[in-house]
Amino acid sequence: MRRKLVAGNWKMNGSLAENEALLAGLQAGLGDVKADVAVCVPFPYLAQVQARLAGSAIAWGAQNLSPHARGAYTGEVSASMLRDFACTYVIVGHSERRALYAESDAVVAEKFAAAQDAGLTPILCVGETLEEREGGVTERVVGRQLDAVIARSGVEALAKAVVAYEPVWAIGTGKTATPGQAQAVHAFIRARVRSLDADVAAKLVIQYGGSMKPGNAAELLGQPDIDGGLIGGASLDAGEFLAICRAG
Ligand code: PEP
Repeated sequence: MRRKLVAGNWKMNGSLAENEALLAGLQAGLGDVKADVAVCVPFPYLAQVQARLAGSAIAWGAQNLSPHARGAYTGEVSASMLRDFACTYVIVGHSERRALYAESDAVVAEKFAAAQDAGLTPILCVGETLEEREGGVTERVVGRQLDAVIARSGVEALAKAVVAYEPVWAIGTGKTATPGQAQAVHAFIRARVRSLDADVAAKLVIQYGGSMKPGNAAELLGQPDIDGGLIGGASLDAGEFLAICRAG
């Protein structure tokens, strides 16, 4: 039985004071949550989050990393730096990175490998745009994004990773994929991995992300191939995030 993982993606939000209140709220309400829980926060707040969450049941991580180990890459942050702050997870290939910072499948695959080389668990985001869905190429796009990582790191690398299916048209828009739409793509992802390694596929945690809220979480998380959520907007509100975690 796969454990559910609910991870918050704070995106570029927060302040020392806001984070303090949010983290205190999460810790206070975590008692009856059965799912694994994590928060992926902006780089400058990793020290604060580490100090606040060390020894708690909440793991933490970052939202991006450099594919390079060190050197002349001004403004970048390496995987080993994230390990210095005891990160467990790092998001790679979020659709905002792919769209706004032109991250190709190949770059995402390098970041995935860099994360694993340093002992981090990558949360690999895949997903189609509205145009791609309407053009009937969802599986081709998601398959291509997944294959780039498998070609670089091997299918066995997915045993130490999380995949997040995030339809781009559902992120931050209030439009959620129906449970049936999401389940269909999750099943496709698992089948593609199963065609290469049945054991890895059976254990692979595949999260859904895209306007998941307390009102739709239980139905989404009840689908057989949906093993958790990657939560943007709702992760900034302790009550909403905890309600989603409890649905898991
Ligand atoms: C995300 O940022 O990964 C995300 C799913 O955002 P939201 O929940 O706000 O749609």
